[in-house]
Amino acid sequence: MNILVINCGSSSLKFQLINSESEQCIAKGICERIGIDGSMITYAPAGGEKEKTVTPMPDHTEAIRLVLEALVNPHTGVVKSLDEIGAVGHRIVHGGEKFAQSTLITDEVIAGIEECNDLAPLHNPANLIGINACKKLMSSTPMVGVFDTAFHQTMPEEAYMYGLPYEYYQKYRIRRYGFHGTSHSYVSRRAAEVLGKKYEDLKMIVCHLGNGASVSAVKNGKCVDTSMGLTPLEGLIMGTRCGDIDPAIVEFLAHKEGKNIDEIMAVLNKKSGVLGLSDNLSSDFRDLEAGYERGDENAVRALKTFSYRVAKYIGAYAAAMNGVDVICFTAGVGENTPLVRTMVCDYLGYLGIRLDEEANRKRGEDVAITVPGSATTVMSIPTNEELAIARETARLVK
Ligand code: AMP
Repeated sequence: MNILVINCGSSSLKFQLINSESEQCIAKGICERIGIDGSMITYAPAGGEKEKTVTPMPDHTEAIRLVLEALVNPHTGVVKSLDEIGAVGHRIVHGGEKFAQSTLITDEVIAGIEECNDLAPLHNPANLIGINACKKLMSSTPMVGVFDTAFHQTMPEEAYMYGLPYEYYQKYRIRRYGFHGTSHSYVSRRAAEVLGKKYEDLKMIVCHLGNGASVSAVKNGKCVDTSMGLTPLEGLIMGTRCGDIDPAIVEFLAHKEGKNIDEIMAVLNKKSGVLGLSDNLSSDFRDLEAGYERGDENAVRALKTFSYRVAKYIGAYAAAMNGVDVICFTAGVGENTPLVRTMVCDYLGYLGIRLDEEANRKRGEDVAITVPGSATTVMSIPTNEELAIARETARLVK
């Protein structure tokens, strides 16, 4: 079955058409600047030329109409008619406590996602727009929602509660939810598979290090803790997000800089992380790696602080699980930056980790980067959230 995977943001929409039997991506692309002047669709059939078309997209319904048109285009399309698309899988950012699993989308589910809008005001409404646009254009095609938060719903209370008055949890459901769950789930399973070990027997730590970054502790196949919280701002230092800070900094900065709460939040989300730490050198790890190699002190500071935070979380989660068998690095930075993997692992001698320098030079491959006999195995595992969404969609539609 061909599955259309949709990841809908407020002004962009990423898509992939994946065959669920071969697990191959047949075509993919992105619509950008939806609702803004200069909207553009980029479409790339597998093995074919990538094409970019600037065309008006006043809303997401028009964007999805253009995606479907591209997929059935008689010259560059990959299917003859929309009947060849068996289902649509939607990435949904926040499922709150309502959705602990992927689910077939019904009107009741749409209402449930709407109820979680408060928890992800930038993301969930955009995800819903994508769902409604598909409903309009492909009314008889089944749709599945795959939630970023779902994998983390197995966390025990002591891991998801904050030290705040309990009434805020009761009234507003303020707690740790965690994100990147589809990636943490895919990567931890894949690592067990590559090692030929039973997923349910392992204690694993997954470091999803991309522009957004999070760590999770997966014990016996279930998530027991993760670094992102009520929102994706908590935890690791990220591309432009600050991660863990003293909450009193918010008030301190507001007074010192004369900023209101929205302005402070914009600083914490968009101007902090390795971008802020490197004194605006870059949020891109390729630039930071190059800066580190030439001894640029801003790049060195950013990478050292970033890696130290990752190592601290690994230590915390090894303690939470009373040990760790496998540590996985994934996402843009985790898969492609041997330097960061080395800098993190330099802190982990106490776990009996012995890096295999040559294996660690590999990028974008499923590979163990420790020598055989290392007490803890460290791996680099490319994530594939779209494939994970397609698998979930196929499973529920069948
Ligand atoms: P993601 O959010 O997972 O797409 O990761 C994006 C980040 O990964 C980028 O900002 C880069 O810093 C980093 N990245 C991607 N590819 C590479 C690469 N080949 N080498 C180093 N860093 C990379």
